[in-house]
Amino acid sequence: MFLQGKTAIVTGSTSGIGLAMAHKLAGAGAGVVLNGFGDAAVIEAARGELAAASGAQALYDAADMSKPDEIAAMVARTVAATGSVDIIVNNAGIQHVAPITDFPVDRYDAIVAIVMSSAWHLIRAALPHMRARSWGRIVTTGSAHSLVASPNKSAYVMAKHGLAGLTKAIALEAATDGVTVNMVSPGYVWTPLVEGQIPDTMKARGLTREQVMNDVLLAAQPTKRFVTPDEVAALALFLCRDEAQSITGANLSVDGGWTAA
Ligand code: NAD
Repeated sequence: MFLQGKTAIVTGSTSGIGLAMAHKLAGAGAGVVLNGFGDAAVIEAARGELAAASGAQALYDAADMSKPDEIAAMVARTVAATGSVDIIVNNAGIQHVAPITDFPVDRYDAIVAIVMSSAWHLIRAALPHMRARSWGRIVTTGSAHSLVASPNKSAYVMAKHGLAGLTKAIALEAATDGVTVNMVSPGYVWTPLVEGQIPDTMKARGLTREQVMNDVLLAAQPTKRFVTPDEVAALALFLCRDEAQSITGANLSVDGGWTAA
């Protein structure tokens, strides 16, 4: 239980990769703040499981990651309830698939706000609390799309590349504070986010569901299998260990070889 006494905020943790990260952190003893949207009873059940696993407080905060004031308020509420914010995982994300000329401006604005700007606002609010205890871990869920592009995902590719720059910049700003800042960059992970983009990709490219799965998604992934949320979460957990204190400013791929090609 190497994270006993630490508090972690995991954005977008009601589902998919974020929920897996919340479970890993709680399993190591951290108090976890769940965040994201979803069914209240399902979220409450997850919160209960996390509290039981960690033996610490588990909280749910409904802050909307597209709203900077709600992000700052979540940090303030967390510190009031637990006394600290030691770990943040910038993970909330959405996707929209369309050529740029057909891309709805409101979807572009939402992707940039939720995927990219939310991380800047959360780091800005949380870093002083980490510095106060001379220890902190900032982990951002990037993507293979932080390193390479795909067509019809202009907003997402832009936002994820932006997160890669933010990771490096804050790693330098916090380098002597006991705070590391890293990104874990998955390839395709089987989660609701991926399932949800299959119909749009079918439409944008005129393909069947099977063709999208095999010829678009797994075509990029040399291992020919989806990454699991657990595999991504395991790396995030490792980055929280003291042995990982020299890993900072890194963008670590968990992509089945996608970006090696
Ligand atoms: P998911 O849809 O299962 O989870 C997304 C989470 O974000 C949910 O908890 C949702 O409620 C939350 N969320 C959405 N909008 C929000 C908002 N405005 N405020 C707060 N929370 C909000 O998706 P996932 O696949 O687990 O994605 C998690 C992260 O992983 C994202 O950043 C995504 O870009 C990244 N990622 C996913 C894949 C993949 O293949 N699934 C690959 C690379 C990167």
